[in-house]
Amino acid sequence: MKKVSVLLAMNTPRAYDYSISDDFEVKPGSFVKVPFQNRELIGIIWDESLEDIENSKLKEVIEYYPSYKLSNTILNFIKFFSRYNYTFLGRVLKLFIPQAYLIEEIKAPVKYRINKENTDKIKITNPRKAVLKLFEDGNKILSHSAIMEKANVSYSVVKKLIEENVLSEVSSVDLEILPKLIPKKLNLNKDQLSAAKSITNSIYNKSFERFLIDGVTGSGKTEVYFEAIEEALKENKQSLILLPEISLTEALFDRIRSRFGFEPSMWHSDLPKKKRREIWQDIYHGNSKLVIGARSSLFLPFKNLGLIVIDEEHDHSYKQQEGIIYHARDMAISLASFEKIPVVMVSATPSLETVLNIKEGKYKELILPERIGNAILPQIDFIDMRDEEYIKNQWLSEKLKSEIKETLLRREQSLIFLNRRGYAPITLCKTCGHRLECPKCDSYLVEHKFNPKLVCHQCGFTIKPINSCSECDSENSLIACGPGIERITDEVLKAFPDARVATLSSDNSKDSHKILQDMRKGLIDILIGTQIISKGHHFPLLTCVGVIDADLGMANGDLRAAERTYQLLHQVSGRTGREKRPGKSFLQTYFPAHPVIKSLVEGEKEKFQEAELKTRENNNLPPYGRLASIILSDTNSFKLIEYCNQLKKSMPKSDQIIVLGPVPAPMTKVRGRTRYRFLLKAGKETNIQKYLDFWLNNLKKPSSIRLTVDIDPYYFL
Ligand code: ADP
Ligand code: ZN
Ligand code: ZN
Repeated sequence: MKKVSVLLAMNTPRAYDYSISDDFEVKPGSFVKVPFQNRELIGIIWDESLEDIENSKLKEVIEYYPSYKLSNTILNFIKFFSRYNYTFLGRVLKLFIPQAYLIEEIKAPVKYRINKENTDKIKITNPRKAVLKLFEDGNKILSHSAIMEKANVSYSVVKKLIEENVLSEVSSVDLEILPKLIPKKLNLNKDQLSAAKSITNSIYNKSFERFLIDGVTGSGKTEVYFEAIEEALKENKQSLILLPEISLTEALFDRIRSRFGFEPSMWHSDLPKKKRREIWQDIYHGNSKLVIGARSSLFLPFKNLGLIVIDEEHDHSYKQQEGIIYHARDMAISLASFEKIPVVMVSATPSLETVLNIKEGKYKELILPERIGNAILPQIDFIDMRDEEYIKNQWLSEKLKSEIKETLLRREQSLIFLNRRGYAPITLCKTCGHRLECPKCDSYLVEHKFNPKLVCHQCGFTIKPINSCSECDSENSLIACGPGIERITDEVLKAFPDARVATLSSDNSKDSHKILQDMRKGLIDILIGTQIISKGHHFPLLTCVGVIDADLGMANGDLRAAERTYQLLHQVSGRTGREKRPGKSFLQTYFPAHPVIKSLVEGEKEKFQEAELKTRENNNLPPYGRLASIILSDTNSFKLIEYCNQLKKSMPKSDQIIVLGPVPAPMTKVRGRTRYRFLLKAGKETNIQKYLDFWLNNLKKPSSIRLTVDIDPYYFL
């Protein structure tokens, strides 16, 4: 027996020692199963053994999986990830191996095909006829169980046919000669070719380089990174395309299939168990060459990764807020640096972090200056809502309505955008003024009518619609205030009773595939939606976009509010006029002079970026300075405040770091817990993690208090 240290895929900061038979030649990164507090847990052999325990006292490894091992590159990435995001090593490992079954051996089912020449030699019964019919076109290959199911025959019918040599086993060589889809490649234009060339050079040189493909929507950015992927494929390397949201993968999946003639692996959390394991192992063994997915695909066990693409790199969905807090774009860049491969960011509205990195020469900018073909950029106008006559329960301006009407007459499509789910954000009692609030959070209950209920968008707390005020008991005194997309839908239906209208938000995301498809096919005249419809989609007939409340995102006051609003509104406007028909976009606003609205209307992207960067620089905010948040919560607010004050007292002195707080979080109560925050401000080169070590390891924390560190925070509520 020898001693090994094992890192478990669970909430633990360090590895534990176990014993294992000398027969195994164990290497760091190899998977094992070990006993831990009456459970059996999966983990990996780790390098440093910290404990000094006799072998005889150690528990023994239950199972060793010699064929599965995480690469040294990935091990280094795990260490870095844990350090940077200030989270336990074991939690990071759990991202890589969320379920133990991923490494269970897959027994590939044997598949069969028909030998037509032998079908004359057998007696034809009805069940046999059904099987033969199944194989009519001659190209089918099916497993034993699939034949039984599809032909509705018994096990022995199939078995007999195999014995008679009517069905024969297909070898993997045969699989390769089955007909394939034919890849369809476009001829890239000059700008696209030169952009692609920069990336492919870096693939050949196996060098870590960072690129940004910057060009308006429809300028051919996707085709550029397809070209780079093709080169990676030729080099027999794997590529990963990260997307901000899973809803975007399906359109890309179809596009990849027709461009490359094969299907990429699509990774997401809703996959059935078997499929997950299959994809995981395909990637591990290097059989899967192209993977598309959201954040979690960063943690797949790539065998020989050659390229990472981060599409819509500016998108804030890349910042994971729940559980382990990390920024998938930033972590993808780190992974590329460990793998020594190029990473390609793609955006029409790059984040200011990226813009600054380009200015400083760290990233290479590949610009696509024009839309492909005849498509011209949408014209963006504002509609000054101060000039509009106020009409109760009406949010569409006369101007927008007349534009939609004309669009309908041209038999083209309109899109109405409002980033607010449900029917009305606030329900107010007109007798006593009470607003319906979530009992557990500092937020209002949002009325939903399509699926009638009142919901807290913070914690999901739900009640049935009510008729009387919960405060003063008055009957029928509750009134809905303000619009959500469902209320806008009512208004649109009233104004355009003959139009084909659809509404889409995360509330009905299960219908999104169908709705988006119908929209692409021109079966919908007016689509109303939240940010779910703002991204990536290509609707050929869409020529009119209306933004109901362009000022909405600006109010929440965090440091990126202006940047985020700019990106969102630019993105939404970019949905229109993507083909031959010119598109228009209308922003309803009360502040047409606001820099965000002005630069959108004037098409001055660079000017906006410059001004916004200047503001950040003056205030030493990201991307110039660094931030970190500490969020503390407890159900007992006295205990929490007491602990926060102790923390404040034990704070190490530093001339490089300013600590603000503790202050109650703007969203002070969530799910029944009171929340307090600290904000750390530092220069870009400061090691905030080290400072946190000095600080947080000094003071014992009551177990009821939850403490979360958020490095490079994007949310401040
Ligand atoms: P982006 O990613 O910048 O939005 P895409 O790569 O999706 O742009 O291209 C926009 C449209 O133009 C797509 O329909 C794409 O197939 C087409 N396209 C891109 N490059 C070319 C090209 N070189 N020749 C013809 N069509 C192209
Ligand atoms: Zn009331
Ligand atoms: Zn709530």
